[in-house]
Amino acid sequence: MNSQRLEGTAIASSSGVVIGKVQKLVAGQAAISERHLSTEELQEEQLRLAAAVQSALQELDAEHTHLLGLEHQDPVLILEAHRMLLLDPELVDKALNLIENEKINAEWALRRQMDEIITVFDCIEDEYLRSRKSDVEQVGQRIMCHLMGQVFGSDSMQSDDPTIIVADDLSPSNIVLLWRQGAAGIICEQGGINAHAIIVARGIGLPALLGASDLLGQVHDGDVLLLDAEQGHWILHPSAKEIAQYQRFITAMDLARHDLKVFAKQPSKSANGHRMDIMANLEFREEIALAVELGVEGVGLFRTEFIFMQDAMPPDETRQYQQYAEIVKGMHGFAVTFRLLDVGGDKPALFQQLSGYHYNGENPAMGLRGVRMLLQWPSVLRAQVRAILRASEYGEVNILVPMVTNSSEMIAVREMVDACCDELEIQKNTVSVGCMIEVPAAVMIADDLAAVSDFFSIGTNDLIQYTLAADRADEDVCGIYSPNHPAILALIRKTAHAAHKAEIPVMVCGELAANPEWTETFLNLGLHGLSMSLNSALRIRKHLSQLEYKPEVP
Ligand code: PEP
Ligand code: MG
Repeated sequence: MNSQRLEGTAIASSSGVVIGKVQKLVAGQAAISERHLSTEELQEEQLRLAAAVQSALQELDAEHTHLLGLEHQDPVLILEAHRMLLLDPELVDKALNLIENEKINAEWALRRQMDEIITVFDCIEDEYLRSRKSDVEQVGQRIMCHLMGQVFGSDSMQSDDPTIIVADDLSPSNIVLLWRQGAAGIICEQGGINAHAIIVARGIGLPALLGASDLLGQVHDGDVLLLDAEQGHWILHPSAKEIAQYQRFITAMDLARHDLKVFAKQPSKSANGHRMDIMANLEFREEIALAVELGVEGVGLFRTEFIFMQDAMPPDETRQYQQYAEIVKGMHGFAVTFRLLDVGGDKPALFQQLSGYHYNGENPAMGLRGVRMLLQWPSVLRAQVRAILRASEYGEVNILVPMVTNSSEMIAVREMVDACCDELEIQKNTVSVGCMIEVPAAVMIADDLAAVSDFFSIGTNDLIQYTLAADRADEDVCGIYSPNHPAILALIRKTAHAAHKAEIPVMVCGELAANPEWTETFLNLGLHGLSMSLNSALRIRKHLSQLEYKPEVP
């Protein structure tokens, strides 16, 4: 095996350094593995495809049962059509034949058969019938997911050395899955600095690099790789000297982290005693213990997407309630701000791809995201609001509304919250309903929004993306996607002033909250809190303690 030393730079998206062994992971439609098989392997491969079809069928039937209760029956009809396709010999039987005749692996055979059918659809003149090819794509992908699920097999990371996953692109759910299976670091060829997947890695403290183009083609499973997520650097087959140098660096970082511990459970305030809460951005219940240990002053942003992302159907009210209640109880009296579901854009959910909730927007970042989607699917909104309200029995909770562009969206959500309070016999206004400020138009109408919101939370990740017209997940425009553009400060300032005028709290929950270069600005703008990934909380609390509060006069 070639063990030539290679190095490169990538976007430093998380923190930490890890030296480990490579495990390549190629997922997704474009990158399915293509393998020729020996005659002895054929039968097993056919059984693997048949098992994936069976699992897909069971999943479909479960969704079908669940959907029958909804007033909206379109999704049921779609699932029925998908069931027929799943059983259609044109797809599965022919893919099974391909495995045997061409001696190829199941993923490859399935993809080839899907392409074959789609080509036939492309030749159909009737526009409606032609458009049904997306059903073939969805059914095929559903089977493919079950096949590819085996890529994440638990036996894959049993080596004694830390495993570094090298992938083309990874979804947030896959990052968490890999982390739970013991991955020590991640390098992706694609992705930008504030792609949701990388925010997840940051949150769970997993060293990660993005935008490492062409790396996949140069590494092999088992290669030694050094991943420096502090400086955005990787070295393949590092020398003994480099390994020793980085080991010293890792030890120094551990010591620095230890020193920060004195700031745990301290109140967050400036040197002259002005309070600005340091709160946590969380996505997983596994993070709660650390949040409590660090003594954050509440959860400023609980992204509920992950609870939805893993499943083929939106979880029902009871399942959500159980998870939210666990989080509220775990925070021991500190408030938890649950953000309503914000799938779409760079946060695709499996249930959207697989079920009747499919959304086909040309430009998902500008399409049905956040509150826009929720208002189109009131049953999803209602179940989530009721689950959050019920969890308020265990402690203070707030509801945060994502992607607000118009006051009418806040009003509609408030109406839903009030109606659910009535149903559950909970007093109205016991739960605050806040507005994410992450679209420039929301800043321009901040006075109007303040009149219908209990608090503001500035989502700088999207605010920067939409203001500068630079995709947060696209490495090609990561130089343009910058908080240093003067428009960003102007928008944050305008939002803060509107909140102060209306006497409602305002905080920042985007990644900028964790940027020490901005702490002084946020402090002097009179923000009430900063909510961030846990790995930054103590560093920013320490930094804040060294700053003088000098309020900006509007
Ligand atoms: C943001 O946009 O800044 C934000 C906090 O939301 P998300 O990153 O989940 O889109
Ligand atoms: Mg956002």
